[in-house]
Amino acid sequence: MKNLILLGPPGAGKGTQARTLCEKYGFVQLSTGDMLREAKKDETDLGRKVAGIMAKGELVTDEIVIGLIEKKLTNDENEIGFIFDGFPRTLAQADALGNLLDSIGQSLDHVVELFVDDEKLVQRIIGRFTCSSCGELYHKITKPPENAGICDVCGSKDKFNFRQDDNEVSLKIRLLAYYRDTSPLIGYYHVLNKLRKINGLGSVDEIQNNIRNIIK
Ligand code: AMP
Repeated sequence: MKNLILLGPPGAGKGTQARTLCEKYGFVQLSTGDMLREAKKDETDLGRKVAGIMAKGELVTDEIVIGLIEKKLTNDENEIGFIFDGFPRTLAQADALGNLLDSIGQSLDHVVELFVDDEKLVQRIIGRFTCSSCGELYHKITKPPENAGICDVCGSKDKFNFRQDDNEVSLKIRLLAYYRDTSPLIGYYHVLNKLRKINGLGSVDEIQNNIRNIIK
């Protein structure tokens, strides 16, 4: 088992890399952002509670996200390893993750920091959208579908989804939350000798290879 955290600001490519590693090698992706969006879509109590916070780009409480991760770690069958994407985002979450992994007899192997400069993050995020059927990621300018309105991968029509928080106002708040609450984790995992840094500006394949070299 290899357990891995992908750390980086919004738009660094954590989700894309996590998804590919899971498809190729059988890792289980644990994305608190995806779990919360799912809860919103299903209009659960939790979904209603977090909708406003997420739309603004602020962080939901540690208690909520730690609860979500705890449920997954104790219930999901997995022999390859977990990829944490968008979790932990605060020092309290990092401590809780360490304790949770301990309690199931596992440990954290690597923390991969994907770094990308802010200007590039804004370009990447403003204009990105996904296919709501298969999850393929697109961008209005850098990667539009080959045929307008049709997903290149699964062929579904007009099922594209723009994230509500992918706008300039929310993005500013998300970046602020990253630098204020999440970037201290870089030091935290450096001290634990788990941190590996990767330039997040290469192609998806290049970055994937760099991650593979770390977790081999
Ligand atoms: P993401 O998809 O990872 O960018 O997350 C989208 C939004 O969900 C964030 O802007 C937060 O509002 C919330 N969120 C996701 N993961 C966490 C977390 N670990 N801690 C607090 N809030 C989170």
